[in-house]
Amino acid sequence: QAKNAGRGCIRYFSESLTQAARDRFHIESRLRQAIPNNELRVYYQPKVDIRSGRIIGAEALVRWQDPVDGLIMPFIFIGIAEETGLIKSLGEWVLAETCRQGKEWIDAGLLPLNLAVNLSAHQFHHGNIVRTLSDVLEITQFPAEYLELELTESILMQRESEMVETLNQLRSKGVSLSIDDFGTGYSSLAYLKTFPLDVLKIDRSFVMDIEKDEDDRAITATIIKIAHTLGLKVVAEGVETQQQLEFLDAHGCDMYQGYLMGKPMPAADFITLLKRINH
Ligand code: C2E
Ligand code: MG
Ligand code: MG
Ligand code: MG
Repeated sequence: QAKNAGRGCIRYFSESLTQAARDRFHIESRLRQAIPNNELRVYYQPKVDIRSGRIIGAEALVRWQDPVDGLIMPFIFIGIAEETGLIKSLGEWVLAETCRQGKEWIDAGLLPLNLAVNLSAHQFHHGNIVRTLSDVLEITQFPAEYLELELTESILMQRESEMVETLNQLRSKGVSLSIDDFGTGYSSLAYLKTFPLDVLKIDRSFVMDIEKDEDDRAITATIIKIAHTLGLKVVAEGVETQQQLEFLDAHGCDMYQGYLMGKPMPAADFITLLKRINH
């Protein structure tokens, strides 16, 4: 009986693994075509200055507009893109498109917005990220001081001294650097003193439970203090309620992103919201 159940279990498992591998292959081959076929989109999530309540910029987040399956979220394809190296061209496309859009907004008479783009480890280790950045800034003419590059702790973990050198080169182009999802990695505090960073983004997992969990309140308040002591600006991620915002404001957090102001949205919707909020 148990043996049968066990065997059934294995069969079920191997079938689902085969299915998963088939899905992966399917996604990979279609993703390969997504850039030439113009199926990628950049969505913009507003970033808000807590003191003034004004939208001061946005984070660029990639979406895949598939003709059959509709809008595909990054968790479905970013991992596959990283493992297959497709992330290099995908990441370059997002960077270039975001800077192009940012310059278009400036040319249309909007104040320059602070735009943040996510980078992945592969772009550091297998692409010339410094060269790519220079080329994109030159081609698009987007002002470097309004561009922010978001790094995760998994990027910083690898080849530490090489990384410090690369980050200094990026910064010398005028861009700022932020550490994303802060607090979820292994040795977060050490990173803050080792790497040349400008902005710290507190992970959504701490912000989420601020109202219920005293520990998360203490952690959040302490992260803000440490960051400020080290001269970093602080962004809270995933703010959904007024109560969370009030707590962050009371503890001196500089900026926030979250559904409270808006989800990631197409460029046109972002500008509509920006005009309404900032008057
Ligand atoms: P991330 O960089 O930490 O981006 C924040 C994620 O949190 C976004 O998910 C955003 O939609 C979500 N979020 C923001 N505010 C809230 C909120 O109030 N509540 C909730 N529940 N969620 C919120 P998204 O757009 O699905 O992106 C997921 C991740 O995919 C990103 O996390 C980032 O790591 C990665 N990603 C997205 N675009 C790119 C890209 O162009 N390049 C690379 N390398 N990674 C990207
Ligand atoms: Mg990010
Ligand atoms: Mg994040
Ligand atoms: Mg996150």
